[in-house]
Amino acid sequence: MARTDALVLGAGIVGTSIALHLAKRGLAVALVDRRGPGEETSYGNAGVIEGNTLLPHPFPRGLSALLRVALKRATEANYHLSFLPRVAPWLLAYRSQSGLAHRMAFAEAMRPLFARALPEHEALIAEAGAGRYLRKTGWLKVYRSDASFADTAPERELATRLGQPHQVLDPDGVQALEPALAPVFRHAIFWSEAGSISNPLAVTRAYAARFAALSGLVLKGDARSLHRNGAQWRIETPEGPVDAPVAVLALGPWTPDVLGAFTVTFARAAMPASRAPWLMPMSAIVSRRWSRGCGLRPALSLRRAMRRRRRRNSTGCCPRRARSFRWAIP
Ligand SMILES: Cc1cc2nc3c(=O)[nH]c(=O)nc-3n(C[C@H](O)[C@H](O)[C@H](O)COP(=O)(O)OP(=O)(O)OC[C@H]3O[C@@H](n4cnc5c(N)ncnc54)[C@H](O)[C@@H]3O)c2cc1C
Repeated sequence: MARTDALVLGAGIVGTSIALHLAKRGLAVALVDRRGPGEETSYGNAGVIEGNTLLPHPFPRGLSALLRVALKRATEANYHLSFLPRVAPWLLAYRSQSGLAHRMAFAEAMRPLFARALPEHEALIAEAGAGRYLRKTGWLKVYRSDASFADTAPERELATRLGQPHQVLDPDGVQALEPALAPVFRHAIFWSEAGSISNPLAVTRAYAARFAALSGLVLKGDARSLHRNGAQWRIETPEGPVDAPVAVLALGPWTPDVLGAFTVTFARAAMPASRAPWLMPMSAIVSRRWSRGCGLRPALSLRRAMRRRRRRNSTGCCPRRARSFRWAIP
């Protein structure tokens, strides 16, 4: 039986970053996952370091938006019919909190946290020797219709107020920045200070390697075996049980699997896949279904993106939830 100062359950980018931070502070930490570090959502995300999204995505407004979701024609949401009754209370709460005033309050409250995202990751990336995966080339969000661009007005105003650099581009400006893009987008916003990761899996693995170099334990194990052992938390692993006074749950969409056993419930939802341009062929990006706008990471060539997408799909490792859910609500 091993004794540690903290158990971190889930070795995605969140758990691995937490474990690394704790190890840097001199704590003995066990990082436990049923798979290798970064092999679930942190494998299949779009790699955008989220410092520029100010307003959270609202509940679909208006009949046509709701119908698009209901008919599974929306890029930003998907659902399983049998799951709807279970998440109905959450959906109602989400709807009631989706007004502009609530979203503005959320953005202001979260700003100090989001503002640290890029500098914090830059520091960890440098320390983990993963600098080749970081690109500070900004984030281009493109909009096909005037209406979808007009919807961004509150976010742009807020960005100006918070000093968040962004530039509104017309179709010529978009073409100048991304000549390979079909000229079908009427508006764009270029968030010049966004950073992105070309290989999220490699960065998570690099953090895990740095954590191991600081004597952190990277273990296989099922977080659902978490239980109390006197004053300690205990997790079972093939190497034997590991105890710690503190357990951090960083299980991404699976966190409720473990929280449920402790009768703790949180309303939560997974990210929409619309943040993952490379999970979809470019033709999807320029297809008619993309009327609400989508994000591109400049400097990622189409050929490289497609190659990477094929490679990831062919390994079968692309997370099931990332592939099949646009909105996954555990
Ligand atoms: C398609 C898509 C694109 C996205 N794009 C972006 C983006 O560009 N930028 C961004 O900031 N966010 C993006 N996200 C959100 C993304 O999910 C998070 O940013 C990040 O990858 C989540 O990391 P995580 O560590 O919380 O979760 P995960 O990477 O999923 O880690 C959870 C870990 O818990 C482990 N686990 C689960 N259950 C158990 C168990 N019972 N026992 C042991 N281990 C267990 C899993 O194996 C996994 O390794 C995207 C999400 C999706 C789905």
